[in-house]
Amino acid sequence: MHELAVLADSVAGCTSCRLSEGRTQVVFGSGHPQADLLFVGEAPGFHEDKQGVPFVGQAGKLLDKLLAGIGLTRSDVFVANVLKCRPPGNRDPLPDEIQACEGHLWKQVELIQPKVVATLGNFATKLLSGRPTGITRVHGQPQETTLGGNRVILYPLYHPAAALYTPRMLEVLETDFRRIPELLGRVLEPVPAPAAQPLYEPPPEAAVQLGLF
Ligand code: URA
Repeated sequence: MHELAVLADSVAGCTSCRLSEGRTQVVFGSGHPQADLLFVGEAPGFHEDKQGVPFVGQAGKLLDKLLAGIGLTRSDVFVANVLKCRPPGNRDPLPDEIQACEGHLWKQVELIQPKVVATLGNFATKLLSGRPTGITRVHGQPQETTLGGNRVILYPLYHPAAALYTPRMLEVLETDFRRIPELLGRVLEPVPAPAAQPLYEPPPEAAVQLGLF
């Protein structure tokens, strides 16, 4: 079995946080297990919890449309969320829930080895960038970074659910989305190997003279 399917099986029984009590099922993520493009949203909503697939509601329809605009379908990419279980009433993820769940996402990134990780909205952007800067300031700005042991382009985008109700945001999301093919075509340098450390480093002369060695 593909390693990602093994991970999905183990995550299906996760009880690491309170959200396991109210869920219908874990929404692990779906798509191509070796996709070059990984989308990371926030958390499953009502429909995702029922169907076990991310982005199947209205926001998902918009995501499909944006993908079609750059010649891609859901089976070309992988779509996951920061949280794998639905928060009650679709409230925001809580810090301890993100902490309990993030290991699953890191493992997904490690196994999928995407070239571009497009974060949808504030929660995914802040978690994967490791920075508190909000989406309004960083959307559309690709950044090279190391995630899951590989060099990737982190590409923050507005969340499609937010864009659904704000025409100006939708325009910006469409514009940012159109840059994805160029990012997928970029060649990334491999992770630099750490400098070799000598097995034994002689103490500095001054330390020897002071009798410290
Ligand atoms: N919003 C998200 O962030 N993720 C989903 O899976 C659905 C809606």
